Amino acid sequence: MNNENEQIDLFGNADLNIKKEIEDLRKQVEYHNMRYHQLDDPEISDYEYDKLTQKLRNLESLHPEYVVTTSPTQKVGSGIKNIFSEVKHNVVMQSLQDVFSFEEVEDFVNKLNLEYGQNLEYVVETKVDGLSVSLEYENGILKVGSTRGDGVIGEDVTQNLKVIASIPHELKTSDTIEVRGEVYLPRKEFERINSELEKEGKAILANPRNAAAGTLRQLNNELVKSRNLSIYVFNVQKSSSKTFNTHSESLVYCKNVGINVIPYSKVCTSVTEVLEEIKRIGTIREDLDFDIDGAVVKINDLNLRQEIGSTSKVPKWAVAYKYPPEKKETKILDIIVNVGRTGQVTPMAVLEPVRVAGSLISRATLHNFDYLKLKDIKINDTCIVQKAGDVIPEIAEIIPSKRTGIEREFDVPTDCPVCGEELEKDENTVALRCTNSECPALIYRSILHFVSRDAMDITGFGEAIVDRFISLGYIKDISDIYYIEYDMIEKLDRFDKKSATNLINSIEKSKQNELGRLIFGLGIRHIGKKSAQVLSENFNDIYDISNATVEDILKLSDFGEIMAVSVVEFFKKPKTIEIIEKLQEAGVNLKSSKKEVKSNILDSMSIVVTGSFDNYSREDIVKLIETNSGKFSNSVSKKTDMVIAGEAAGSKLKKAEDLGVKVISLDEFLKLIENI
Ligand code: AMP
Ligand code: ZN
Repeated sequence: MNNENEQIDLFGNADLNIKKEIEDLRKQVEYHNMRYHQLDDPEISDYEYDKLTQKLRNLESLHPEYVVTTSPTQKVGSGIKNIFSEVKHNVVMQSLQDVFSFEEVEDFVNKLNLEYGQNLEYVVETKVDGLSVSLEYENGILKVGSTRGDGVIGEDVTQNLKVIASIPHELKTSDTIEVRGEVYLPRKEFERINSELEKEGKAILANPRNAAAGTLRQLNNELVKSRNLSIYVFNVQKSSSKTFNTHSESLVYCKNVGINVIPYSKVCTSVTEVLEEIKRIGTIREDLDFDIDGAVVKINDLNLRQEIGSTSKVPKWAVAYKYPPEKKETKILDIIVNVGRTGQVTPMAVLEPVRVAGSLISRATLHNFDYLKLKDIKINDTCIVQKAGDVIPEIAEIIPSKRTGIEREFDVPTDCPVCGEELEKDENTVALRCTNSECPALIYRSILHFVSRDAMDITGFGEAIVDRFISLGYIKDISDIYYIEYDMIEKLDRFDKKSATNLINSIEKSKQNELGRLIFGLGIRHIGKKSAQVLSENFNDIYDISNATVEDILKLSDFGEIMAVSVVEFFKKPKTIEIIEKLQEAGVNLKSSKKEVKSNILDSMSIVVTGSFDNYSREDIVKLIETNSGKFSNSVSKKTDMVIAGEAAGSKLKKAEDLGVKVISLDEFLKLIENI
């Protein structure tokens, strides 16, 4: 919105400006709809398009007086061009329920397992990004091929489908069958076509998906032929002569009769396996020769699919996991500096908020001041932000061509922006650091880290509370947390009896935490959660750790010189000694709960337990595996060394047998570990 809209004059001109803006937006959205649906040649990315319509929707909801029924927000784009004849689908071509997180996939699987049985099979497939079509074969001959359209009625594109090499005109059977698949443009073809178009000075195709859709709905059959589209079939819609029990069985049949079947289709028997396969597809995604926009998880048992059923739009037995878009374009509004808990001062970009990898990003790390120079990053630059998994979003690059002259360089600070102390340059790295141990920024960060979930897990200690306790002087270091009393907080604003009691209780409870959490919570440089755990498991208590030499620590697994030195130096500091004393006085657990190890007989063996056992619970057996140095695992794979099977062992046993994994009884297992 531009500023003029906010200037309201006596004649209500502000309103007129808004009306005009809404009308302009409508025209833009309509134009892009036309480019997308009718020309299959969009000018802007899906993301930019979504942003545009979002803006229009927002303005319309703020000003309902300007909403008209012809607005693109009030219509659903069907995308049907009336140049082909209509086909009514025998089986409705449904859409898929999208999910955007692993948790939602887990939910989907867990809910079905709970309702329909624990050992359900799921198939995970690549979600090919193209155009959905249905192929009807009568007595083995291709009769009709159609697009999805609105799911009930599509367009007859048989002639165009017939020129696609991977669609057989005749099957190696005389069965009558209808299959559904995705017509796509292989990446190589897409590149080839575009380089040709470029040579001819013509407009290039936006992406393989739009290119496939546009090509298939071409009237020029020769052109369709020249573009080398392909198909991956992923479902049998209807079959008159065959009955299948499972989806995977039906795909094998399709393959055998000459149909080009989706190559990435894996049967999984647990949530873990489903997620692993989704992740695996995510990692090979860039290397595939076709575009995908997700992974589909579906129930394998076809009778069960019937039982589970569908909503009016989507089947309830499948979900489509959408891989997060990992890169987005946005603007750097400002660059600020942040003081971390180790005192390191890092530049951060303040961004025009943008949704990346499923979350709204308004900050991105710039790592260090050299990075700014390296990537030539300036305030007001347009940039590409990227986010991979859980990591902090970062700026991948800036787009110099979008510079307008208002960009300015950021000056590297010489003093701590929080306490004003002169910053020091780190010897080993390029980092700048505030070394004032009383710097409020350091205290704030170190407390937040100490109370965090992976460290001492003290609930109710949010950022605002930490900030307040520091400014009230209640907390100067982490040990002060254990000296906070009910009376000190109950009288504070926004605290009442209940919240004060809760906070005191969670502080109290954390005193019993295992040592690894405390070591991690101390925020020793270079010591992450895992190394903190290793330290706590290899020494008797915190005093033993603090007396350890660099050599002692280097003996531990995965500890290098820098880490060992960091630990030794940390425990030498007078401040650390004082903190440990205060923690001890407050009754915080400083003792290790070393893991009991009876033998190494199962050293690193991956062992699965399935079925039920007399006199032994699953936990008992897991404990026996672990105390004899084995690893317990939930699912059977080629990497499994052994399966301990009890009564009523189900699919895991079968899988072990299929894979040729060794299966033993509990008695045999007990003999094995006692025989030492
Ligand atoms: P959507 O249109 O985004 O709701 O997603 C459903 C579309 O995904 C369907 O029209 C299918 O054509 C397409 N799709 C691609 N690959 C698969 C697959 N392996 N299984 C099911 N649907 C798929
Ligand atoms: Zn400072």
